[in-house]
Order: sequence, then C-alpha cells, then structure tokens
Amino acid sequence: MKTARLQAADVKTRIPPADFYRAELPAMPAPRGAGWRDGGLCPFHSDRHAGSFRVNLSVGSFVCFSCGAKGSDIVAFVQMRDGLSFPDAMARLVEEWGLA
Ligand SMILES: [Zn+2]
Repeated sequence: MKTARLQAADVKTRIPPADFYRAELPAMPAPRGAGWRDGGLCPFHSDRHAGSFRVNLSVGSFVCFSCGAKGSDIVAFVQMRDGLSFPDAMARLVEEWGLA
C-alpha cells in the first residue's frame, strides 16, 4: 500500500469530521456548530428512529445509544462500517477522499 506514509493524524487533519459525516450520514440534520450532534439514522443497525446516533463533529467520535456502536474517530467509523483493520481503514479513507 503506497499510502502508508500518511499518518493517522494527517488523515484526521485533512478530513474534517463535519465534512466526513455530512458525506456518510445523509439523514444527519444540517450541522450547526461543533461538538456532539444528532447524527440522524445509525448506520450500524437498521435504525428507523433518528435520535440515538450521535457524532462529535469536532473530533469525529460517534456513539449509538441503541445498538452500542461507538468509536473515537473517523478511522474507527470506517473500520466498523467496512469491517477493516486500522491500517486498511486508513488506506480506504486516503483513497475515498483523494489524499494520496
Ligand atoms: Zn446503532
């Protein structure tokens, strides 16, 4: 993987969590401000009622109070979304966001 030289900190700096979640969560209400926000429908269970999935648009953390999915940043989100290891999730972010 030729993307290995991009460190996690670089990836997280170059992909603002607010932009990432706006792209990932079509049901997320329009972001206003930073910090913890309603993420709309949880992508990790068949969610029919918005309100239990929260994302932190400052640091990228996410948590679902319904199914228990949670993580500390957008790399963790991609790991869970796609079932990837940390390095593979990093590589996918680099690819999807054109950072290579
Ligand atoms: Zn959930």
